Amino acid sequence: MRLSASGGQPAGSGATAPPTRLLHLLQRSTAVSVLALGAVVLSLLVATTYLLEFTQPTVERSTAVTQELRLNHEAMLDQETGLRAWVVTGDEHLLQPYETGRRAGTTHTRNLRGMVADDRLLAVEVEALLAAQEAWHQDWASRALVRGASTPTARGTDADRRTAAFFEEGASGFRSYRAAYARAVGHAAAQRDAAVASQRTALRLELALNVLIGVLAVVFLVARMRRLEHLLSRPLALLHEAIARVRRGETLEGLPRLAVEEFDEATAALAQLSQELHLERASTHARAEQTRRVSEQRREMLLATQALAACTSVEELTETLLTRATELSGRTASLWLPDGSGGFACTSWASLHHASSLKTAALVSRAGEDGLLRRDRTGATGLPLRVAGATLGVLHLEPDARMGVRAGVDDALQGLALSAAAHLQVLHLLAETRSMASTDQLTGLGNRRRMDEDLAAEWSRSRRHRRPLSFALLDLDHFKRVNDTAGHLVGDEWLRLVATIAQAAVRASDRVYRYGGEEIAVLLTETDEEAAAGVVERIREAVERASGPEQVPHLTTSAGLAQLHPDMADVGDLLGAADAALYAAKRGGRNRVVRASATATETLSTA
Ligand code: GH3
Ligand code: MG
Ligand code: MG
Repeated sequence: MRLSASGGQPAGSGATAPPTRLLHLLQRSTAVSVLALGAVVLSLLVATTYLLEFTQPTVERSTAVTQELRLNHEAMLDQETGLRAWVVTGDEHLLQPYETGRRAGTTHTRNLRGMVADDRLLAVEVEALLAAQEAWHQDWASRALVRGASTPTARGTDADRRTAAFFEEGASGFRSYRAAYARAVGHAAAQRDAAVASQRTALRLELALNVLIGVLAVVFLVARMRRLEHLLSRPLALLHEAIARVRRGETLEGLPRLAVEEFDEATAALAQLSQELHLERASTHARAEQTRRVSEQRREMLLATQALAACTSVEELTETLLTRATELSGRTASLWLPDGSGGFACTSWASLHHASSLKTAALVSRAGEDGLLRRDRTGATGLPLRVAGATLGVLHLEPDARMGVRAGVDDALQGLALSAAAHLQVLHLLAETRSMASTDQLTGLGNRRRMDEDLAAEWSRSRRHRRPLSFALLDLDHFKRVNDTAGHLVGDEWLRLVATIAQAAVRASDRVYRYGGEEIAVLLTETDEEAAAGVVERIREAVERASGPEQVPHLTTSAGLAQLHPDMADVGDLLGAADAALYAAKRGGRNRVVRASATATETLSTA
């Protein structure tokens, strides 16, 4: 199977692929094996044909001719022996071998002629033999037949001599025949031997040729196998290395060409695979990084929300919000809060320079008015802090070249702004609730509860630092009458008026409270009784001079004043001392200030 470079698909089966080096090598090796086998088979075929069609018939014919010649010779010997006996004895019985041999000889002669018809040389020899044989028959055997019939019974020396001469004549003819027979047999044997020898030579040649073909084929195939091994081993090693690199997550750039097209295709497919794997790994990594960033942002958000929720003041909240927003976004942050006139003012001192930028202020007011996140061309962002449809402030973020700006944090910033807005609202409501809980609704002064808290705190502080602390109680004189004669509304108006007078008469560090009913308390820190008496006297005088509602235009007030004394056990002692002094003032005729340290009769002023 061939792999295409683009993804390892099998190459189209219909198209004829150009032979590659590896394929070419394999094809040639197969072709050489087939050729070698073919050559061996062909040589065997040629050798077998040669043996069967050419040499073997010669061998067989030569052998058959030799056999026939022998049989013919035996027939001749029988004839000669029979004739000799017949000539000597004249006994017809003894002529039997001659007649048998003569018949057989006729058959053999015919056979021999048939056998050598296709062999010219052997035919010459056989014809010479048959001629010698025929000559013996004509010259001697035919005469011997006649002579045997007249064989003399009595023997004499002449007769024996003639007989001997006659036999010698036959023997001479028979020797001629024998010589021809020997030549013919020799020729046939030589012919057979030559054919056998040529068979041996052919077989040796065949063997040598086959061995040669085999050796050449083996040598060629061994060389091919070595080449194949060389072509396969380096590419396989490189492929292994490439696979190991893919496993390590590397891309396969700059792979060497391998000179074998199949391997080049495989490595190209592997390189593409590695590229795809690399991209897949990168995208997985990016997704994991994104998930990590989101989770980190969520954690930061949670921590920021916790930190914001722990803030107990707007200042603390501002600082926390700006720190977290800067960390989250990598930008300079500033917080803008309503300035009371429909606009926004920068509250964070660290970013005060933003306040001078008209561009920043414009962006902030745009975000504040729309209640939506706004961004300008420089990448600065105005993020409104909105809760319950109201904009409580605007978080401004500005890119800072010194910091690494973090992208994709808008959602987290909006979450942070929402948390900050919610907690800012909580702080506002808390402050309002606290204020309502410690403020007197009628006069706007601190109420008894506030006074108790402040007094306890100042008591401890003054005790600790051995600093003076004074406390005064003022009570409007005959106030009940005001209510009774002019009504409660007039009484309330007087209460508000006295509160304003007392507030205006004290220093910023002194505090005025509505103690209860028409009683006013003044807490004077860092003030001894002497100095405090001056302040309280100013209040008394101011009330006396004040013009109230026309129904009751004038009123007076009495006051009792006490200073913290080392003998006092608790706040109650100080309050008690002031109350006692007030009681003394009332008893003393009202419209006066009485110091606790003074005698009950001592007064600073009298009506
Ligand atoms: P004295 O000079 O001895 O203080 O006489 P007085 O009439 O002021 O007596 P007292 O202090 O006992 O009377 C307090 C009166 O103040 C009773 C009540 O009608 C009136 N008062 C207390 N709280 C209020 C208030 O919130 N509004 C009005 N209009 N009157 C109040
Ligand atoms: Mg009273
Ligand atoms: Mg009173």
